[in-house]
Amino acid sequence: MRDFPNHMKYDIVVVGAGITGLSSAYHLKKMDSSLKILVVDKAKTFSQGNTAKSAAAFRDFFTLRENQVMAQSSINFYKHLQNDMGVDLGMKFTGYLFLFDHDTDKEWVSRYPHSRIVDEDMSDLFNLNIDKDTQDVMKIGSIKSAVIDENAGIIEPDLLSGWYYNKLLEMGVEFKFNTMVRRLVLAPMESLNYPGEPFNWQKSEIKYAETDKGIIESDFYVLCTDVWTTSLLDPVGIDSHLRPKKRQIFQITSPGIQKLINKNIFNDSGVFPFTIFPTGVYMRPYPQASSFWTSLADELNRDFSFTENPEPEPDFYTYNIKPILDNYFPASEDSRITSSWAGYYSYNTIDFMPYIFNDINIIVVSGSTGGGIMKGDSIGRIVASRYDRKKTTTLYGGKKIVNTYNGKYRKTKIEDMVL
Ligand SMILES: Cc1cc2nc3c(=O)[nH]c(=O)nc-3n(C[C@H](O)[C@H](O)[C@H](O)COP(=O)(O)OP(=O)(O)OC[C@H]3O[C@@H](n4cnc5c(N)ncnc54)[C@H](O)[C@@H]3O)c2cc1C
Repeated sequence: MRDFPNHMKYDIVVVGAGITGLSSAYHLKKMDSSLKILVVDKAKTFSQGNTAKSAAAFRDFFTLRENQVMAQSSINFYKHLQNDMGVDLGMKFTGYLFLFDHDTDKEWVSRYPHSRIVDEDMSDLFNLNIDKDTQDVMKIGSIKSAVIDENAGIIEPDLLSGWYYNKLLEMGVEFKFNTMVRRLVLAPMESLNYPGEPFNWQKSEIKYAETDKGIIESDFYVLCTDVWTTSLLDPVGIDSHLRPKKRQIFQITSPGIQKLINKNIFNDSGVFPFTIFPTGVYMRPYPQASSFWTSLADELNRDFSFTENPEPEPDFYTYNIKPILDNYFPASEDSRITSSWAGYYSYNTIDFMPYIFNDINIIVVSGSTGGGIMKGDSIGRIVASRYDRKKTTTLYGGKKIVNTYNGKYRKTKIEDMVL
């Protein structure tokens, strides 16, 4: 096994150069510029994992205060970069439009700070009345109410990641791409050089990372490896607290979509709102190609298996997504799929809030549950604060979050708004 040329020991190695790895490295280095930080990724450049496969939408419509605060602070930070610092992140506040086939309780909506019940006429955009035969067969109903979250929209993950990446290069953080961490090697902190170490009575920690390009030594490791985290942590006996769920996106367009894509009756963003239909089918506007990205977070009947390169399933679109669009969204008539892909949510199946926890000389980021981009900046700040042994993190804008809420032994409620 060959060591890296000019073998160097780092203060921190961040494994994973997706949005959470980049943001973590950025906030660690910002906190202490003397730290020697290396970011390693098996891909050829940054953000090629699930960050690239996401719907890249953001919202602060979460039931849990911690999720709301993490998303709001990140959204405000990204907005600050774009509006005050002139960094183009492709961020557009299209709003998130929830269409319900039941009435909505005003009290319930008032819990979401930037949301309101819709009173605009939407009959030009959607088919609000579902015929009785369809209701009987599909058990879907007419639209009875709608809610819009105005602090929500779309962002370009490559532009956002690119901003962190360039900042990290300027700050002197090193990157090793095309470098696969195969194993984290546990060893006693004080070795007696006995075969079979570490023994249970020895204090142990991760001594080095074994990669396909050689050994990397560091005092501390931050794992931002999303659904791949389990393969690194299982061998050392640390629970990663995540389950992979396949998620697919289908890019569709039609003459009707091309006419509507730049129409927004709720604001002047110039882009159709991100729309969620009853049953959970959603449409994310992709105005660059006059298209929507459609998807559905299917739960039952979607197994937790994992493959390195998941494929989208055309039948999933045809039988699960298209019938919903056909019924509620006339503009999708004659639509065709122009592109499709699949990735994974790293699911925290207990309360649907990210895990950010310390164990020995590691911090693990896992279970981002479909929200790692919209909470990405806050996640990085929490990692830095945890490394600094702080109990609370001050997020962008000054709101505070108690670090144990994201840790292992937390007592939160359950997040209901998972899409
Ligand atoms: C279809 C879909 C839609 C989504 N929609 C949204 C959305 O609208 N909004 C939102 O906020 N989030 C969304 N998400 C979730 C979001 O994509 C993730 O939460 C986020 O990208 C996680 O970022 P990350 O940096 O932790 O992981 P990743 O971007 O997956 O990065 C992990 C990195 O670790 C590297 N890596 C893994 N193992 C190793 C190893 N052993 N050695 C070296 N490198 C390794 C990988 O190559 C990868 O680059 C969606 C996800 C999917 C799949």
